[in-house]
Amino acid sequence: MKRNEVDREKLSPMMQQYMDLKDKYEDCILFFRLGDFYEMFFDDALLTSRLLELALTGKQAGLDERVPMCGIPHHAYASYVDELVEKGYKVAIAEQLEDPKEVKGMVKRDVIQVITKGTRIDSNIDSKSNNYIANVFDFGYCFGISYADISTGDVYALLTSGEKDSVIKEVAKRGFREIIVNDTIDREIVEVLRTQFNCLVTITKEQLDDKNYEYIYQNLEDERLVITLKHLLSYIIETKKGDLHHLQRCLVIKTSEYLEFDNNTKRNLELVETLRTRERQYSLLWLLDKNKTAMGSRYLKKSIENPLTNREQIERRYDLISKLSTEFILRDDLIKSLSGVYDLERLCGRITYGNLNAKDLLQLKSSLKELPTISNILEKLNYDKKIDTFEDLYSLLDKTILESAPFTLHEGHLIKEGYNEELDELRKISSGSKDFILEMEQAEKEKTGIKTLKVGFNKVFGYYIEISKGQIPLLKEEYGYERKQTLANCERFITPLLKEKENIILGAEEKIINLEYKVFMEIREVVKRYVSKLQKVSKIISEVDMLQSFSVVSDTYKFVRPELTEEKVIKMIECRHPVVEQVMKDKYIPNDIIMDKTTDVLLITGPNMAGKSTYMRQCAITVIMAQMGCFVPCKSCTMPIFDKIFTRIGASDDLVSGESTFMIEMKEANYAISEATENSLILFDELGRGTATYDGMSLAQAILEYIHDKIKAKTMFSTHYHELTSLERDLKHLKNVHVSAIEENGQITFLHKVKVGAVDKSYGIHVAALAKLPESLIKRADEILNVYEKKNIKKEVFTQTSLFELNENEVEEKKNPIEEEIKKINPLEMSPMQALNFLYDLRKKIKERK
Ligand code: ADP
Repeated sequence: MKRNEVDREKLSPMMQQYMDLKDKYEDCILFFRLGDFYEMFFDDALLTSRLLELALTGKQAGLDERVPMCGIPHHAYASYVDELVEKGYKVAIAEQLEDPKEVKGMVKRDVIQVITKGTRIDSNIDSKSNNYIANVFDFGYCFGISYADISTGDVYALLTSGEKDSVIKEVAKRGFREIIVNDTIDREIVEVLRTQFNCLVTITKEQLDDKNYEYIYQNLEDERLVITLKHLLSYIIETKKGDLHHLQRCLVIKTSEYLEFDNNTKRNLELVETLRTRERQYSLLWLLDKNKTAMGSRYLKKSIENPLTNREQIERRYDLISKLSTEFILRDDLIKSLSGVYDLERLCGRITYGNLNAKDLLQLKSSLKELPTISNILEKLNYDKKIDTFEDLYSLLDKTILESAPFTLHEGHLIKEGYNEELDELRKISSGSKDFILEMEQAEKEKTGIKTLKVGFNKVFGYYIEISKGQIPLLKEEYGYERKQTLANCERFITPLLKEKENIILGAEEKIINLEYKVFMEIREVVKRYVSKLQKVSKIISEVDMLQSFSVVSDTYKFVRPELTEEKVIKMIECRHPVVEQVMKDKYIPNDIIMDKTTDVLLITGPNMAGKSTYMRQCAITVIMAQMGCFVPCKSCTMPIFDKIFTRIGASDDLVSGESTFMIEMKEANYAISEATENSLILFDELGRGTATYDGMSLAQAILEYIHDKIKAKTMFSTHYHELTSLERDLKHLKNVHVSAIEENGQITFLHKVKVGAVDKSYGIHVAALAKLPESLIKRADEILNVYEKKNIKKEVFTQTSLFELNENEVEEKKNPIEEEIKKINPLEMSPMQALNFLYDLRKKIKERK
């Protein structure tokens, strides 16, 4: 039976109420609270019963047929919601807004929140990663992107150029799981986000119209950022509904402040998860994460994804790591204190949004307890930021919240004695009456002479006097016992006095529970006022935690402080791949990576499996670590600050896009050569191998020449086209290196040592032999190879020193200083005034030139 086909007039009032709500939340699965259950009806019931393996039943709702229905107990709903949300559905929770005991007829119900992938704030979300919800706003000529983690309150915004690829790259890199887009956006983007990135995408027109949250975007000058944020906020407020004032002022991301790389690079270098298993273990993040707090772990992940480009900021981190490593006793104390700090950022979210319990406040208290020590240590370390220590808040929590408080707020046992007089009074009454009842048991025993007489309590009958069947004859009328319940071996009685005390106790207990709840809420209001200060401290703690983690890993794995030079020189001595090294331990062979001022391109040859891609990866990872402000896996390291990294390593797993590996390879190569500057790092691993030999080789050569002559970015290029090594003769800034292997009696041994110069043999057949291909097949391959070699196929490539250099017009054009200046700016990061001034200056310079 379909929902939109039923005759609504005939429906029971409750079902009509359901229908009205469902109309408003058409794209959600509606959890409709009925007493102790959440019920789903119609298609929602069919869907959820299948997805969650629940029994499908039916409900008489006034129609001829029963309406499909399934339900889940309210106390166990969270795990079911999780499952649906993870599968990409939105779940709207409709609650009863009135106490059914207190209203006649139907209770009011409404949706109190919608839970979606990107708006989850429950405790089951991964504590070591941020969970972002984003808005992508298509302005036609550029995109505005804003995103927020509702659990921590972080809010960011940035602009990207108007190309589809650039917005998709941003989304992929930042790992958004849910995205709101404006309704004029190119639908192809929506399609890609949904199918390739498994994003939950909602198209809306809604703009925020709530001045309460103006502070979030008030400081933004660019109206486009404000527009994207207003879209995002409107959706968040509509779904979460509660108080969201823990959302912080928006931070504008200027891409030039961070080392840029795309998602492929992030994946290829296994920065936050491994390529094959997509697990954290054996990623760079895993290696570097010795954080003690979840906040620190999240900050580390953000830092790996966004290394810095500002020398001062990077050096500042190096200084602090050095300091922590020399002051290791202070560092140990710091580690001890940080271990006692809970996830303050997410606690702040819970304090404001309202799903806070007493255990959370106890966690807050324990965390605050550590702050004076941390503050003290930071001062001794000459750390340049100070933290608040919240003594008054600590003492409030210490005075109020019971250590043994339960998770729920509706059972009492929350508030300590001595804080609220009325509460103490009620407790006295309750316990006084309980004492009275104990005394009464004794008195009744004496009065009746029944030694086994007991006074007990149960939830249905309240207090009672229990007497075993055999003793009943001893009861006398004058005792005033009234029979209440008969059990197999005993009878239970009440007396007017017992009833009176029961009323007092139960009345007091109900009042206590209500009052404790009220007091708890009052305390929450007080705590709420500290949220923004607590968020500030959280930020500092996250950073300090990450830095102590850097200092610990640097000591453990022998990382060194890099030297950042202004010159375009890379000198990484005894560099290692930090993760592979940990897996291989002593067997790992360190290698130097040297590119002096006159070397821009390293052409790397060597047999398969020799270690070419590991060599390139370790260079990129060293750069990323250095620019995160971390020490690096080298004996010593000198390098410039890079602006972007491009990699084409290994197979791309972009299977969904329906493009061939070769096509993807060429697209990535194009992306690199069109975006790279002379301050970038490019890593190309066997580029061109996806097509026929001569095609591939020619393309590889042309790309090498293009980079060499036009881009001048530091580039590592591995190839098994040995013919390319002769390029060294003509390309002044290209150098050959090779990863060595030795061959003995037809057996190959990899030395994994990188040496200057080229090798002229690929050893492919030897590697095939290692892979245990049939002996006869290997022999045959050898024979074929011999024939080819005898034919003396040309071993050198055609070089007409460089096509690109010969084009004089281009060279002339390149030197044009005006063009150079224009290349340097990013119009997206300029205010209209700055743009105008820039234009004015240019005009002046052109005039002066003439
Ligand atoms: P290639 O790119 O040349 O085919 P890889 O870089 O994939 O080779 O390395 C192949 C294997 O060799 C790696 O899985 C690793 O186990 C080992 N290896 C690579 N570099 C080293 C090294 N420097 N020291 C020791 N083993 C290494």
